[in-house]
Amino acid sequence: PTYIIILLIISRLISTIGNSKPRSILLPHKLQTLDIAERLHSDPAATKSASSDYGNIVKQNPAAVLHPSSTEDIVTLIKASYNSSIPFKIAAKGHGHSIRGQAMAREGVVVEMLSLKNHRSRTGITVSGSLLSGFYADVAGEQLWIDVLNATLEYGLAPVSWTDYLYLTVGGTLSNAGISGQTFRYGPQISNVYQMDVVTGKGELVTCSASENSELFYAVLGGLGQFGIITRARIALEPAPKRVKWVRMLYSDFSTFTRDQEYLISMNGRRQNQALDYLEGSLLMDQGSPDNWRSSFFPQSDHSRIISQVKRHRIIYCLEVAKYYDEHTKNIVGKELQLLLKGLSFLSGFVFNKDVSYVEFLNRVRSGELKLQSQGLWEVPHPWLNLFLPKSHILDFNKGVFRDIVLEQNITTGPVLVYPMNRNKWDDRMSAVIPDEDVFYTVGFLHSSGFDNWEAFDDQNKEILKFCENAGINVKQYLPHHKTKEDWMKHFGSTWKTFAERKALFDPKMILSPGQRIFNSI
Ligand code: FAD
Repeated sequence: PTYIIILLIISRLISTIGNSKPRSILLPHKLQTLDIAERLHSDPAATKSASSDYGNIVKQNPAAVLHPSSTEDIVTLIKASYNSSIPFKIAAKGHGHSIRGQAMAREGVVVEMLSLKNHRSRTGITVSGSLLSGFYADVAGEQLWIDVLNATLEYGLAPVSWTDYLYLTVGGTLSNAGISGQTFRYGPQISNVYQMDVVTGKGELVTCSASENSELFYAVLGGLGQFGIITRARIALEPAPKRVKWVRMLYSDFSTFTRDQEYLISMNGRRQNQALDYLEGSLLMDQGSPDNWRSSFFPQSDHSRIISQVKRHRIIYCLEVAKYYDEHTKNIVGKELQLLLKGLSFLSGFVFNKDVSYVEFLNRVRSGELKLQSQGLWEVPHPWLNLFLPKSHILDFNKGVFRDIVLEQNITTGPVLVYPMNRNKWDDRMSAVIPDEDVFYTVGFLHSSGFDNWEAFDDQNKEILKFCENAGINVKQYLPHHKTKEDWMKHFGSTWKTFAERKALFDPKMILSPGQRIFNSI
């Protein structure tokens, strides 16, 4: 009997080792006979760039990379998988600025969306509309927001909702939400889309909007790439301002800081003079410099008195707002801003003003990026954690997380963002997941780390999530990263059923965006 037991253990071990090896999912031979074959690359140089992302934490090699020359190439590829007896996974890769492999497809095919730019006549961005009916831009899914900005400005127009950083693709941010300081007023980027062309998981090219194929339209917005590849989005435009009054105010007390933030976002009427155009917030904890790569703002001559406040209070809270203006409003913008900021309780003498062009304001992160790139510090691991949390728990979060975890552990090495937004600017029919309160906060821990210590930040992130769970704070991850189906079901909560039904409808063979690990474990 001992002999038999040993044999059983050995055979069990062998089968376990066998199972832990990645299953080799071969691409069907038929792919080589299709006209996209010459644009499918499986050499190491091609697959390497698709096997990592901005996060620099996950590495997954695809079997091949498609450099599409047209939307038809994407249709052909998805159809080939859909019609194959063993479908292979496909991920659209925008600018690869995900953190946890969300745009990767292990042993499948990554579609390098940026390749399409080389094949577009002009820019892939067309501006249309009129003052009466409203303006919009038809933008190809692979376009970067910086290019959308430059192209629409030629017409004196611009989108209204942005991300802080503009070197992200339209398809990539619409798959998440696209948030920044404009969101409280204009909603996320997904709330400012009129129509899209989408190649579904069945390889069908479908035009969708709120009135046409609306189920697909709402599924795709914030849909984490699960339902189709966005090849065109029609984005709302408004007349572009010329310049921006940009203000930062410092607080030593968190509840005063959030009370002022919430007051300001309650003024969100569409009439210019009644509202700010942008509101964010962040923590200052670094006793070395009050500036960081997201933007240098504070005059050098004020650094020492700001740092002495940081030393005194350990955390200083920075409220950041902006108001746009142009030729017609340049004489009144100052007064309007003064009225809006009247009665705020920031630290006396700690208000800082800048007056910059609209482009300089929107593209404010770029110079920090270029500086980090030149120092080799851009392509390091980024164990980020981005959260949405209900307003009712923001003070508990400050105590339990900012004070008791972040300050105590003292390892934070990047910007920490905190700002509120209004739920009524989001649409429940979309796939994006947000807390169930009229006002909720986004908190972003934008860590940079070394290659050998990113786990310490990851552990801190886990501790933060654990604290929220224990304290009954119903946080939702933004740019979510979950490992098990149970966690994903919890993430979606009551909307999981709809999300799963939509998956069955638009990508029944579970081909698309496997790197999100929602419907598959690799
Ligand atoms: P990728 O990382 O390439 O892809 C993201 C996901 O979308 C993947 O699942 C991919 O398969 C899918 N996808 C890509 N293209 C398409 C398409 N055409 N159709 C369907 N699915 C597609 N986000 C904000 O909201 N606000 C910010 O201010 C902000 N700032 C950032 C700053 C930096 C420095 C970085 C690195 C990220 C920032 N992000 C921000 C996060 C960013 O919006 C997301 O990571 C976004 O997914 C990146 O776009 P991408 O083009 O690189 O997408």
